[in-house]
Amino acid sequence: MDSTNANQGNRKFRWAVVGGGMLGLGVARKLLERGENVTLFDSGDSIGGLTSAWKIGDVTWDRFYHVTPLSDVHLRRLLRELDLDKEIEWVQTKTGFYSAGKLHSLSSSIELLKFPILNLYQKLRLGGTIFFGSKLKNWKKLERISVEKWLIQWSGKSTYEKIWKPLLQCKLGDAYQRTNAAFIWAYIQRMYAARRSGMKRELFGYVQGGYDRVLHRLAMFLAEKGLAFRSKSTVHRVSRDESKNSWTFEFQNENGRDSEQFDRVVMTLPSPTILKTVHGLSDKEQLRLAATDYLGVVCTSLLLDRPLGGYYVTNITDPGIPITGVIEMGSILKPEHLGGNYLVYLPKYVDSRDPALEESTELTHARCIATLSSMYPSFQPQQVRAIQTAKARYVMAIPTLHYSENRCPVVSSMPGLYLLNSARIVDGTLNVNEVLRLVETEFDETIWPNHQAG
Ligand SMILES: Cc1cc2nc3c(=O)[nH]c(=O)nc-3n(C[C@H](O)[C@H](O)[C@H](O)COP(=O)(O)OP(=O)(O)OC[C@H]3O[C@@H](n4cnc5c(N)ncnc54)[C@H](O)[C@@H]3O)c2cc1C
Repeated sequence: MDSTNANQGNRKFRWAVVGGGMLGLGVARKLLERGENVTLFDSGDSIGGLTSAWKIGDVTWDRFYHVTPLSDVHLRRLLRELDLDKEIEWVQTKTGFYSAGKLHSLSSSIELLKFPILNLYQKLRLGGTIFFGSKLKNWKKLERISVEKWLIQWSGKSTYEKIWKPLLQCKLGDAYQRTNAAFIWAYIQRMYAARRSGMKRELFGYVQGGYDRVLHRLAMFLAEKGLAFRSKSTVHRVSRDESKNSWTFEFQNENGRDSEQFDRVVMTLPSPTILKTVHGLSDKEQLRLAATDYLGVVCTSLLLDRPLGGYYVTNITDPGIPITGVIEMGSILKPEHLGGNYLVYLPKYVDSRDPALEESTELTHARCIATLSSMYPSFQPQQVRAIQTAKARYVMAIPTLHYSENRCPVVSSMPGLYLLNSARIVDGTLNVNEVLRLVETEFDETIWPNHQAG
């Protein structure tokens, strides 16, 4: 036990962590390592949130596609601790572009030179923008300018219209117009992370068994350290009880409504859910939480009896195609690990209020099959062995202008309440590695010192 706990009379605090995604799990782990008493709440029946698995056909795999680049140091450290790092299969992947009604490979500088959609000058400007972005260090300056303006400035209007704009629209929907330039900088930095660490090319991997296996191991690891997990428990009200100097939690579980008291609370839920759930926040906190807009996703998984184009990611620049891209897990995941099937994801990122999030699955599936038929001449609907769609309303906070200055602070205006969610990420793209990095810095530098001081 550390000196602070000694100062506080050797008392373990009762902590509630709300949200059992990778962020909440990371916070719970940190607290357990410091000997605290931790209860984790999640509305799902198991841990993992966006990384959790489901069954499609006879196959159990991630509900949303996940891949681990070799350069994801925080995630790989966790996998090492869970004794899973050695098992990762690392492969090189190819990237495709669907432009002007055709598939093109764009996996190397030579292929960029051959890319028929841009002339040589446009290609040089595109390559120059990416190179320049990879060398830039000061991302804060980029928050003051829109991503559209920055890309036009460096790549030129025609390259922007042909390549960047459709990519931004695919990834952000209409929200691209409100997004700051640090967003694209973070993407370029992730693309170059491997090269910065001395490798020639990025490799991508997956743990055999997918996140299901990672989460299973992590759940055991945390249970051994004493985690109390309240599954299927949707927290709907968190309020301060001054008379008891504690927090009252009201939640709904399989047995109906229940409540519990805690000394400290870490909320890892998306900002709109924190706003709805926590009572007594200051006006400023409420305004900041309300101002955080999110992207959601509609993501269809298909098991096919053969591969499509062979690219891990196929980016789409043709207008009117109703998906963000095609993710072929079959390009990195051997079909024998999936019962001889090829797993394909068709994500569509949308505003969190978009009606697509309410659309019937029949309609979504019909559109996905029609889209594959139009993009891949050899694709036949009979090749589909299973199809399922997952939706999430709050996936990523949209990084608007001056984003980092307008976030809600981690240490809230109320004693013992911490607000730490993925909307805190400012200099990275949203992925598990960034979430774990966020936990490392914000827990060690903010939450724990504040708790000790209090
Ligand atoms: C389509 C897609 C593809 C992705 N691809 C990759 C990839 O290739 N590589 C990568 O590293 N990352 C990828 N990610 C990102 C990664 O999944 C996320 O960064 C990470 O899982 C976020 O974790 P989190 O804990 O912040 O949020 P979440 O996983 O959203 O966790 C929030 C949790 O809160 C719970 N909850 C919500 N409301 C309540 C309530 N009222 N009471 C109790 N519990 C509640 C939810 O059930 C959920 O478990 C992808 C994500 C998506 C959607």
